Amino acid sequence: MPDHTDTGSEFDIIRRHFRPLAADDAGALSLTDDAAVFDVPSGRQLVVTTDALVAGVHFLTDLSPEDIAHKVIGVNLSDLAAMGAVPRAVFLAAQFPKDTEEGWIARFAHGLADVLAGTGATLLGGDTVSTPGPLAFTVTAIGHVGAGRALTRAGAQDGDDLYVTGTIGDGALGLLCATGARPRDDALIERYARPRPRNAFAVQLAERGLATACVDISDGLAADVAHICEASGLGAQFAADRVPVSAAARDALAGDPALLRTVLTGGDDYELAFAAAPQNAAEIEALARELDLNVTNIGRFEANEAGGAGVRVLDGDGRLLDLGAGGYRHL
Ligand code: ADP
Ligand code: MG
Repeated sequence: MPDHTDTGSEFDIIRRHFRPLAADDAGALSLTDDAAVFDVPSGRQLVVTTDALVAGVHFLTDLSPEDIAHKVIGVNLSDLAAMGAVPRAVFLAAQFPKDTEEGWIARFAHGLADVLAGTGATLLGGDTVSTPGPLAFTVTAIGHVGAGRALTRAGAQDGDDLYVTGTIGDGALGLLCATGARPRDDALIERYARPRPRNAFAVQLAERGLATACVDISDGLAADVAHICEASGLGAQFAADRVPVSAAARDALAGDPALLRTVLTGGDDYELAFAAAPQNAAEIEALARELDLNVTNIGRFEANEAGGAGVRVLDGDGRLLDLGAGGYRHL
């Protein structure tokens, strides 16, 4: 570990700021060993995901250190939620620009502790380097799911209902607010900065076998439903006016109806979209009530005569809406 930041050696940073987060988990070996060790509960499969987030590309550079911690962990736990996995561990590879102040890292670590609390996941390791480039984090999240019970994007059936959790569009509207493209709205900015991954609900969907396919909404509702369609070899249709929106988003839409496109195709919501057989509707509703989570049926999956996997979005009169190029495209 020859790398040093201006604020002390990598070792000091790990010891002072990251080790306390690992203290409750023997498998972290106090972040003093070469790797972590933990048991896989019997009858369970590991679910593993990695996401890299670079300042200025995947999150705004002027977010607070606490917000950035919420963002980098939240997006990874959301990938576990999409699979129906119980969070168990996160690994954090941090690249700090050479001039990063230790106070910034301290606040970031507090944010990490805050976002991990109550999730079931512990920080079990990582890497800390300094970089001539921008601030960047790569998080690996590990969870577990009953053997054979992981939710995937494939498996939706003709006639399945299409549901979403929470409210849609807040993340993309929050980004517009945070960049000054729209008037400041702290509720929306918080939704952009601090994803609320739906692990508890997703775990129940998986364990009770209630969903046939699931995805987390990171690229935008339309694009992510299209991911299920492609993997499942189906089409889907949903009604724009059934898509649940927050009070803040409703206000924004009232002032500028063209924002509907942002709501339906913008990214960063980290809600779930999933397919479920109609006979599971009552149990899904009961589960949502039990967990105090908004879960809304917005449409359905359907075999497409042309064999296409397209998503059709309908307006209040049942007419097809043109959403243009769809959601955020990855490079
Ligand atoms: P090595 O050089 O053998 O890879 P490191 O010095 O990079 O070891 O890391 C020492 C220990 O600190 C390891 O257990 C590693 O997982 C942990 N660690 C390093 N950086 C972080 C971090 N940002 N978050 C959590 N644990 C970390
Ligand atoms: Mg290392």
